[in-house]
Amino acid sequence: MDCCETNQPFESLGEPFVKTYHIAALPGDGIGPECLDATMPVLDAVQSCCGISLKINRHEAGAEHYRKHGVAIPDEVLKDCLDADAVLLAAIGLPDVRKPDGTEVQPDMMMGLRRALGLYAAVRPVKLYPGVPSPLNTAGAGIDMVILRENLEGLFASFGGGCILNDHVATDTIVITREGTERVVDYAFQLSQRRKGRPIDGKRRVTCVDKANVFRSFAFFRKVFFDIAHRYPDIEADATYVDAMSLYMVTSPSDWDVLVMENQFGDILSDLGAAIVGGLGMAPSAEIGDNHALFQPSHGTAPQLTGKNVANPIATILSASMMLDWLGTRYDDADAISAGAAIESAVAGLLKDGHLRTADQGGNTSTSAISDAVTDAIHRNAGVAR
Ligand code: ATP
Repeated sequence: MDCCETNQPFESLGEPFVKTYHIAALPGDGIGPECLDATMPVLDAVQSCCGISLKINRHEAGAEHYRKHGVAIPDEVLKDCLDADAVLLAAIGLPDVRKPDGTEVQPDMMMGLRRALGLYAAVRPVKLYPGVPSPLNTAGAGIDMVILRENLEGLFASFGGGCILNDHVATDTIVITREGTERVVDYAFQLSQRRKGRPIDGKRRVTCVDKANVFRSFAFFRKVFFDIAHRYPDIEADATYVDAMSLYMVTSPSDWDVLVMENQFGDILSDLGAAIVGGLGMAPSAEIGDNHALFQPSHGTAPQLTGKNVANPIATILSASMMLDWLGTRYDDADAISAGAAIESAVAGLLKDGHLRTADQGGNTSTSAISDAVTDAIHRNAGVAR
């Protein structure tokens, strides 16, 4: 049995027991491999400083693999993702690699992974680190919210379905189920319990974002939201329409803690969220299920930047931090939680310092130099001489 499949104590027969987490790493396409390469030394650093152990299996998958072999994710790679304790995926998709029906490989592969791994909650932190300029002048108390996107239902339930009639009418259907809504809303409240509340006053608040004034499906989503909210009397629960929310994220970004919403709304608002905290190069994400989890930057493959050592690797590095935090929480492993925190703290220090910035942040620091700086900071913060 894999050592991480149990919640056994870390001490056994007086010997310290170091868990080895099995990670399936998918570099993907475009800037994905560079961003993953920049993350590997960071993971090495926390292994040597924080007492954790990782076994990382690196696999080719994605659009380039499809171009060469006619398949985006080989069966053995999917199997390793299913066997792994977590999946770390850098970025996939290339606009010039298309399936015979003209669509890109990326949606197929991502929806396939989400469905196979049961990843129902997409966690998109929207956090403005000190030193990172925001385009907003409305964030006096700071920005630190999470967009929680239902990840298997909503409009995306129609993926691969939909209908075109006589070249005149096209339909895709939104699917909202009680079970799917309950589990993501429950996750939203649990997430709020672990956080420090909204920046403006520290109040824990979970907000349902919907279009309940127009559609029955969203009125149902809201009803189920409040059914679950009653179980969490210590957390403020409220609801806002998605169009208003897109305005509030700009005018009062410090007021929000956790926002939970349908799949397509989450897809759209999370890009707005990235924009107000430094852009896609700064935006990590996690996709969580009951038995599996996948971590990836929110950005795509930016093919025009590929191979130039200029991509911003911070979103991938912060995704690895989220991965360790999730593993630590799942397996009650304080060292893994500390390792995740060590990565975030090293990144935060670098950003606050403000000297090293990639081109998307208005600087000229290379991808590999950011990796070196984060790695050095982890060693320095741990007091380890190099
Ligand atoms: P996709 O179509 O899959 O979304 P994409 O790369 O074209 O992929 P985005 O990820 O939305 O689209 O990125 C849009 C642009 O933002 C990129 O073309 C690039 O200029 C910039 N960008 C995104 N991520 C990064 C990054 N990590 N570092 C630097 N620039 C980035």
